[in-house]
Amino acid sequence: MHWIHVLLLICFVGAYSAESQETLSPAPMPNSSNATDNSHSSLRPVRMNDSKAKLERELVAKYGEPQRSRVQQGLRQVEEFWRTEDGDAGVFEEFVSANFAGDQATLDTMFNRYEGLLEQLDGHMHEINREFRQQLDLDRGPILPFDEGFGGYDPSAHVIDDFFQNKLAFTVLLNFPLTTLDKRLKNGPSWSRRQWAEVRLTDRFSKRVPADVNLGIAQAEAESGRYISEYNIWMYHLLDQRGQRLFPPKMRLLSHWNLRDEIKSDYADSQNGLAKQRMIQQVMERIVTQTIPQEAINNPGIDWNPYTNDVVPAATQDADTPKLVQAADLNNVREPDTRYAMLLKTFTASRKADPYSPTAPTLIARRFEEDREIPEVRFKAILEQVVTSPLAQQTAKLIETRLGRPLEPFDIWYSGFRPGSKYSEAELDAMVSERYPTAEAYQKHIPNLLMKLGFSPERANYLAQHIAVDPARGAGHAMGAGMRSAKAHLRTRIEKNGMDYKGFNIAVHEMGHNVEQTFSLNDVDHTLLQGVPNTAFTEALAFVFQGHDLELLGLPAPDARSEAERTLNDFWATYEISGVALVDMAVWHWMYDHPQGTPAQLNEATVQIAKDIWNRYYAPVFHKNDVVLLGVYSHMIDAFLYLPDYPIGHLIAFQIEEQMRKAGSIGPEFERMAKMGRVTPDLWMENATGRPVGAEALLDATRRALTTVTAPK
Ligand SMILES: [Zn+2]
Repeated sequence: MHWIHVLLLICFVGAYSAESQETLSPAPMPNSSNATDNSHSSLRPVRMNDSKAKLERELVAKYGEPQRSRVQQGLRQVEEFWRTEDGDAGVFEEFVSANFAGDQATLDTMFNRYEGLLEQLDGHMHEINREFRQQLDLDRGPILPFDEGFGGYDPSAHVIDDFFQNKLAFTVLLNFPLTTLDKRLKNGPSWSRRQWAEVRLTDRFSKRVPADVNLGIAQAEAESGRYISEYNIWMYHLLDQRGQRLFPPKMRLLSHWNLRDEIKSDYADSQNGLAKQRMIQQVMERIVTQTIPQEAINNPGIDWNPYTNDVVPAATQDADTPKLVQAADLNNVREPDTRYAMLLKTFTASRKADPYSPTAPTLIARRFEEDREIPEVRFKAILEQVVTSPLAQQTAKLIETRLGRPLEPFDIWYSGFRPGSKYSEAELDAMVSERYPTAEAYQKHIPNLLMKLGFSPERANYLAQHIAVDPARGAGHAMGAGMRSAKAHLRTRIEKNGMDYKGFNIAVHEMGHNVEQTFSLNDVDHTLLQGVPNTAFTEALAFVFQGHDLELLGLPAPDARSEAERTLNDFWATYEISGVALVDMAVWHWMYDHPQGTPAQLNEATVQIAKDIWNRYYAPVFHKNDVVLLGVYSHMIDAFLYLPDYPIGHLIAFQIEEQMRKAGSIGPEFERMAKMGRVTPDLWMENATGRPVGAEALLDATRRALTTVTAPK
């Protein structure tokens, strides 16, 4: 999945505090011993014991005893992925004899050429992709049907298959070591940069998943994604105990994102807000437990009381094309565990990849050991440090004071921590549109903006030359380059009257991505190490830029109280999403432990897991047991164990911000961090801040923030 490592980032302001429906890379997934599926028998590894013994003798005789361990390692790694279709023992022997680099000079030449050529491959594939998406991504007039076809085409989709077929992948496996996360963590800190680059070279070929398995994963992802994207609740048709409608006509909310965001905005409704929030919680619980009537899903033709669970034909219409329902045909039969059937499909499809991923043979291992590169045990310990922190209790007290009532479970989405602003949105819009009427105006101003962030004039100009600004069709995004000869692209929204403040705020965030992308491609010592450890890091670096947007407009920085409010908002969001991530992790373990489980059993297990985690970490703060809300996230159903990325994103952002504060100036510190490249998160963070990834920075900042906001004004 690292073929082209996250070059396109579509981000929204506060992406980590509001789970965004961003594009997920469909990760080829893994598994293990109980995979007895023999539909790919021709794709099974072929044993080459006689050939291996013979080749070891010959190669050691030719290159000397010191090469023996490299020879053994190479033979083992090639055999692991060699299949009948690759050739018989004769082909195997010929291949190994011709391609083993038995002396340092040949090995260096091989490494250098692979590095250079793979940069070209990645870079040009990415250029094709960028050009093909241009009509979709940029503000260039109507999209015709075929534009979608170009935009959806991925020229690199079969590169890994091709490289096994033409044996370029086997040459890498014969000469460079495959590593496990355990090895990278234990030995990584003492490896040379070249050794790290070799790790990333072999990483690409650590799996050889058959095309039909990958297709099955893509289909499961698409099917579960469709299920989620059509799961709307028609709010006007919810009736309370007295038969009243609390929500306006035509309001249609997608589960769970829109439902959660409605809870957040209902804090501003002093009249009906609380009743609305309680009702949404009731709806969410019925979704998690699957006691929601099937007829109530995406159907404006009925009225539903989520407390009694009664459904009746809609007494009044608000949709343009309502489904007409007759009372006689109507019942409140529950949704038949479809939610969990979808999740099981993603599990079943993922498991089929397990036998083809020897260094990470389960989806859980692939997520933590390959994608996140933080062992699951440590990851879990970090999340538990957040959810058991006494700061949750203290923050909850503060929220209760502000709300004037005891907390209720939906208050895990409390949205009242807000930085105050001296300027109205309109004032800021006027300032921005005058300064940036066009994309070119922003482009010209980049060196200036970067100097305000502490970059030297020389570095600011250098960076500006590597960033091209384009007018975006959507809100904006950053698209890095895949090779040094290409530029990073900053896509920003320009309205008719020029850029507005929201657009500027996003542009500054995307510029942070572009600067990171430029340093981590053009200034890193090996292009094989291009990038940062994972998406959370590039987001954290972009948030550093974004947090200084007012200063870039020549206005004062947010005061201490505003900063403290923002910190508390982040802490509360991290506290919430950590529990959600722990549920996601436990549910995937349950599926691996019960591979024959049915949707009904998975429903029961998920509800129990959500309750257990709530009871352990949230009930002491909310004083209510057996709440199932932590199981409501849509990405738990369609995103293959993706949710743990959110809490770790918050933690990393705080660590980096704290380091920037200590350093005083952003520019040189940002460059130093971004040039480290794609090593493990802990190694990157130790280089950046002197400590591994952890929760302390967020918790320390929260402690200070609580003191600040409770101090008399
Ligand atoms: Zn971003």
